[in-house]
Amino acid sequence: MGNMILLEPVFKEVLWGGSKLNTVFGYDIPSDHTGEGWVISAHKSGDCRIAAGEYKGHTLSWLWDSHRELFGNLPGEVFPLLVKIIDAKDHLSIQVHPDDAYAAANENGSLGKTECWYVLDCEPDSTIVVGHNAKTKEELKQMIDDRRWMDLIKIRPLHKGDFFQINPGTVHAIRGGSLILEIQQSSDITYRLYDYDRLQNGQPRELHLAKSIDVITCPYEEQSQEHETVDGEGFQAEKMVKCPFYSVTKVHVTKKVSFEQDQPFLMLSIIDGEGTIDGTAVKKGMNLILPCGYGTYTVEGDVEFMVSGVN
Ligand code: ZN
Repeated sequence: MGNMILLEPVFKEVLWGGSKLNTVFGYDIPSDHTGEGWVISAHKSGDCRIAAGEYKGHTLSWLWDSHRELFGNLPGEVFPLLVKIIDAKDHLSIQVHPDDAYAAANENGSLGKTECWYVLDCEPDSTIVVGHNAKTKEELKQMIDDRRWMDLIKIRPLHKGDFFQINPGTVHAIRGGSLILEIQQSSDITYRLYDYDRLQNGQPRELHLAKSIDVITCPYEEQSQEHETVDGEGFQAEKMVKCPFYSVTKVHVTKKVSFEQDQPFLMLSIIDGEGTIDGTAVKKGMNLILPCGYGTYTVEGDVEFMVSGVN
């Protein structure tokens, strides 16, 4: 059985970022415009280093390439998933992502991007964009041509604890005042549809209207918000999503509970509280991987964490 793999985040400074990754999670961030912590990532744009143990200092991509047995000998050139914490002080651009087939054909063989969001916290009266109102591609093109952004997008109220699955082809945007845990395919292919006419270093950021129109699904189909909850002895587990790329469960342990790691690998992101996992102290902001064959893991304390992995 391999040991647990603790990871160090990589931070991204962006025009819409803030300082909550420091004030809420205690991370040592580069500036008060830090928008993203890539907390479990082997992506070439932000490859996490292993924080402790025999692989300390190596990157997660190195571990994937060199010790595939820790990941159940899964096939694939790249570690398939990416977990981020997003501090949106200001709005992110309105965007859409391609699926695997479109990305493979148009983006040098990259993965597509299916993503999901768990709202860790948000300011009162926060909103989020998920979906659009165009019934056909023709109507979509017309609304984009006419720059009728507010008619096009579906703006929804946002609450702490909300969860959204964002399939490829879904128009979406995280908006200012929200702190979000994102679990996604390991891809950074984003087609920007509208950026609120903002400037970065005096220039507007590039838009990708043709590709956006190519990939946006018309009409938008509402996603169910129903989650199955399991109440166990000393814990509660909420199954947030299971899709072809990942499954995500939120677990709140309040005593001492043992779980089984029977997947190729499991990613744990501690989102609140503190305690221990198999005797290792854990607290909010820590992220780790339990490798293949890890077996039983025992969590003790008052700990809330997201468990995610491939199916
Ligand atoms: Zn996105």
